[in-house]
Amino acid sequence: MKLKKLINKRNIQRAIILACYPVWITLISQVVYALSPKINSIEKARKIFEQEKIKLGIEQNVGLYVSFNNKLREVKDLRGISVKNNNDYFIYINKCDLKKNILQHELYHVKKKEGFKGNTEIHTIDEVVKEVSQAKWKLPLKGMFISESRANIYALTGLKL
Ligand SMILES: [Zn+2]
Repeated sequence: MKLKKLINKRNIQRAIILACYPVWITLISQVVYALSPKINSIEKARKIFEQEKIKLGIEQNVGLYVSFNNKLREVKDLRGISVKNNNDYFIYINKCDLKKNILQHELYHVKKKEGFKGNTEIHTIDEVVKEVSQAKWKLPLKGMFISESRANIYALTGLKL
């Protein structure tokens, strides 16, 4: 029986490891993000941000907001978030998380037209914090298995999946 051959202990282990891939990617990414050097000036961050937009072929304007008191960390421990208002995108990021790979991660969400959408239009960091803390933050399967994983893979390797 072919099916019986497939269902053995080793293949079950492989399937479990494969099914957990978002966990591994997330764990590796968090370590890499934590160890990456910070961008120490807003001017430099804006320059890198524009260069990364070009690399990804993002032509539309994308707002970049930096939380100087790292307010996003207070809500679901966010490093950064991409927000979609109508067809406009805005990226909010903590000053302590101002790093090239985190900007790449958030810009990749914009490239894929993914962004958090609140119940009201979001403009300020306080509005992001309020909306995100009120949102039912069940990371949907698509978010966990596809969106977050491919944004992390892009930020880590430059691979555009
Ligand atoms: Zn993300």
